[in-house]
Amino acid sequence: MPVLVMKFGGTSVATLDRIKRAAKRVGLEVAKGYDVIVIVSAMSGETNKLVGYVNETSPLYDAREYDAVVSSGENVTAGLMALTLQEMDIPARSWQGWQVPVKTTSAHSSARIEEIPTDNITAKFGEGMRVAVVAGFQGISPEGRITTLGRGGSDTTAVAFAAAFDAERCDIYTDVDGVYTTDPRISQKARKLDKISFEEMLELASLGAKVLQTRSVELAMRYKVKLRVLSSFEEPSDEAGTLVCAEEEVMENRPVSGIAYSRDEAKMTLVSVADKPGIAAAIFGPLSDAGVNVDMIIQNVAEQGLTDMTFSCPTDQVMRAQKALDDAKTRGDIAFQELIADTDVCKVSAVGIGMRSQSGVAAKMFKTLSDEGINIKVIATSEIKISVLIDRKYMELAVQALHDAFELEKA
Ligand code: ASP
Ligand code: MG
Repeated sequence: MPVLVMKFGGTSVATLDRIKRAAKRVGLEVAKGYDVIVIVSAMSGETNKLVGYVNETSPLYDAREYDAVVSSGENVTAGLMALTLQEMDIPARSWQGWQVPVKTTSAHSSARIEEIPTDNITAKFGEGMRVAVVAGFQGISPEGRITTLGRGGSDTTAVAFAAAFDAERCDIYTDVDGVYTTDPRISQKARKLDKISFEEMLELASLGAKVLQTRSVELAMRYKVKLRVLSSFEEPSDEAGTLVCAEEEVMENRPVSGIAYSRDEAKMTLVSVADKPGIAAAIFGPLSDAGVNVDMIIQNVAEQGLTDMTFSCPTDQVMRAQKALDDAKTRGDIAFQELIADTDVCKVSAVGIGMRSQSGVAAKMFKTLSDEGINIKVIATSEIKISVLIDRKYMELAVQALHDAFELEKA
């Protein structure tokens, strides 16, 4: 029988009633003849609570124990979903990551899936089981320890299962009815997209659109998984949601498809570092070893052999970054006068594959921000995106102004 993967996010399994609702959706697909693999998140708010417990217990925690704690939310929903399906007379059972096993790297709290053996679940389907419920977000390391895939990681679990089982489709059920041109909570003019290319979705996700975990889009693109984002609160229909698919299947030809933002950015400036060969390596090596995700980087023009180096990273990594750089200074590997952390910034980005062929997008973006009196602190570009770092208090204004300027409300 063809396999379908259905993933339910935290809001779709937030209560027992919602689990029932989700299970009914699963029932509809089972009735169509699919063998279904259901991937569940923890109940909404649950993972945050568990992360809070860990931080309170041990601020510079052992990442293996962090994973042991924060992975547990999914165990609860997986079991409850299987029980709910059984109550509906649908043969179902649950699997935790290690039972499948979802084999991952040992990079705790941001592990990558390396392999998902299919024999175990396939054999159960062969024996008449119709739904395999798998706890998302978690796996097992080569050392036999529980790992997690990073926040939002159950999306990646879902896509990885869809690839491993050659599923007909991977449906991601969430609390929004699809992918929008920007966050509808920020711009009322945000429009739902029927289709979006893998590449644009990848940029939007990595630039802050929370709808899909970045890694899940990477995987979907690599394995050509047909990915659909839809709401579990809307009536079922074949046209529902947004299809994330290959560029050739998206017909639109506009320079910008979406505006993304990320509130949790920090701008870090190292004042007066020596301008000499190897300095960038001496700074960014320790940061990378400490697990700091450096995003944008600028180096100022040097004066008298000294320069300022600025980079951005997520706000919750500021402490790690400071420690890594201070340690490098203490060791004598780098010298700098001061490290300034500006945590009142945000990143706003315009994304579109049309940028490849149309010019003037950056100019229009900068002009729009300047007309609103917004100062740009750092700029970064790629083939299909332009990002700026600005003061956080202008975030909403910038998103709305750019959405208007690129006329994204028009289909
Ligand atoms: N429960 C995890 C989180 O909140 C994983 C997920 O929901 O995708 O990040
Ligand atoms: Mg999510």
